[in-house]
Amino acid sequence: MRRKLAAGNWKMNGTRADLAELEALCTAHDGADVDLLICPPFTLITAAAQLCDGHDMRIGGQDCHMAASGAHTGDISAEMLKDAGASAVILGHSERRADHAETSDIVRAKARAAHDAGLLAIICVGESLSKREAQNTLDIIGGQLSSSIPDSATGENTVVAYEPCWAIGTGLTPTPDQIGDVHDFIRTRLEKRFGAGIGRSVRLLYGGSVKAGNAAEIFAVSNVDGALVGGASLKADDFSPIIKALE
Ligand code: PGA
Repeated sequence: MRRKLAAGNWKMNGTRADLAELEALCTAHDGADVDLLICPPFTLITAAAQLCDGHDMRIGGQDCHMAASGAHTGDISAEMLKDAGASAVILGHSERRADHAETSDIVRAKARAAHDAGLLAIICVGESLSKREAQNTLDIIGGQLSSSIPDSATGENTVVAYEPCWAIGTGLTPTPDQIGDVHDFIRTRLEKRFGAGIGRSVRLLYGGSVKAGNAAEIFAVSNVDGALVGGASLKADDFSPIIKALE
């Protein structure tokens, strides 16, 4: 049985005042029947991790460098995230692929670095609207999966998030059938590459305009083991019902 995961991606949002939202989530969901993770901006990781100490909430980063250390001005290593109190990192988000020209090869190297540091790598894949309209979704996802996931992946250190680019922050979501098709495809690909043991233990998250109103329908889809939530993870009142729908 894969344990469900509700993960929040705060993106470039949040100052210290917003830690009150995290505190509210921590107290509301102690003892939750699912894994809980918030990925705030780098500047809040240390304070967020301290706040969550003793609670069931974990903290993650939104990116890391592929190198362990060195002359990379402005970058953060997986080791540094771990040292700051993070236990996970989101990698290959479509916003990073677009804004920072991150290729799947780069994402794979970053995921390898995350594994080496003992972090859970949440590796994102997803098609653009034009690729979906051209019926190339599974080709795109298949290519991203094979190039973005390192050989070091296991069910303990890796989560795959399916996030169609056109659903992120738009209020649009694929139908449950469309989500199920992609998640089943990802599961089959993982089983083929890593064998049934690892292939069936990697958790698959859906991300893209998840909110209280659509969470239950999405969580009922086969091979959906949770969600990666952007906008609706910023406020405890918005994220809490999503967590409850997953439990
Ligand atoms: P959204 O973002 O929930 O705001 O659509 C999801 C994500 O980008 O991870």
